[in-house]
Amino acid sequence: MNTDRYNRQIILPEIGGEGQRRLTTAKVLVVGAGGLGCPVLQYLAAAGIGLLGIIDHDRIDITNLQRQILFNTSDAGQPKAQIAQNRLQALNPDITIKAYPEELSDRNASELFAAYDVIVDCTDNFSAKFLINDVAVKLGKAVVYGAIQGFEGQVAVFDAAQGPCYRCLHPRPPRGVILNCAESGVIGALAGMIGTIQAMEVIKLIIGHESFQSLYGNLLIIDSKTMEVSHLTIPKSGNCPVCSLSAAEIVPHYTSPVCFSAIVREIDNSDLPTLSGCVMIDVREHEEWDQGHIPEALHLPLSALNRDPEIFKPYRHDSCVLYCQRGLRSQKAAEILLQAGFSDIYSLKGGYEAWLLTKS
Ligand SMILES: [Zn+2]
Repeated sequence: MNTDRYNRQIILPEIGGEGQRRLTTAKVLVVGAGGLGCPVLQYLAAAGIGLLGIIDHDRIDITNLQRQILFNTSDAGQPKAQIAQNRLQALNPDITIKAYPEELSDRNASELFAAYDVIVDCTDNFSAKFLINDVAVKLGKAVVYGAIQGFEGQVAVFDAAQGPCYRCLHPRPPRGVILNCAESGVIGALAGMIGTIQAMEVIKLIIGHESFQSLYGNLLIIDSKTMEVSHLTIPKSGNCPVCSLSAAEIVPHYTSPVCFSAIVREIDNSDLPTLSGCVMIDVREHEEWDQGHIPEALHLPLSALNRDPEIFKPYRHDSCVLYCQRGLRSQKAAEILLQAGFSDIYSLKGGYEAWLLTKS
């Protein structure tokens, strides 16, 4: 190993030759090579992380370039994981870089995570964040979490052996939030700030000097409009749906994220009790309603909605579960409402007939 490359960090007494040796033997997996992943990868490759894994199934799009600073204009259309690997290998030929141009899912996550010491969550949707958390808790791995929304960014370190996990903070996907939508805005410099903090947390975890304080269960929040920084201590939840279980009881589950503003979320009868406070709305026609309906439901038929979407206006800020006879018309109604700007709309899978079965 050519240590000249790392001279300026080795001369820091907290790092030294031993710290550099730890970096050189460390194995770090970065999930997502986007706005957060690019700066994370650059700093970790430059610092000499021995094995760097990159998993991302996306291809480079021209709209990525204002924040995904590993990529050039001529890379458009190429797989992110592979281009990132090429760029980083040119930056530091002494390290090993593995590219996985595939989607992280419950099929590959456990095997992949097992080969790494630290997982860096650079994803942009709750489906992936939950999967990363659940697999990491099951395998006892630390996760350096990052997220940005608008002008606000967050970083935390989750390690169930040291404190809470991500599910202690968010047991389930927050409701009424539009996730992973290509049209949601993001400013590149903020992604750079948050990714760089994540890279620093990874380096601190690996070196482990006594003077370092990692963000275990400590959510760092930066408002880039004012540069105000705050910290939120996340308590470990005794009822956490993941870290309160034994490893054998944790069953990671993944569904590909969808843009909730365009695609209707279906909900099963078994999930209804978790949606306390939601408004049930029957969108069938009058004769169907008269023949029987879910007791607490309101009746707003699809035909009326088609004539005048304003009839749903009183429920705009509510969480609404729509149902019809078998689940098709309620999807249609949910689509209309989502297009009208409603955000917290579900369609009951299987409709009234499926609900009846659970009651019999
Ligand atoms: Zn937990």
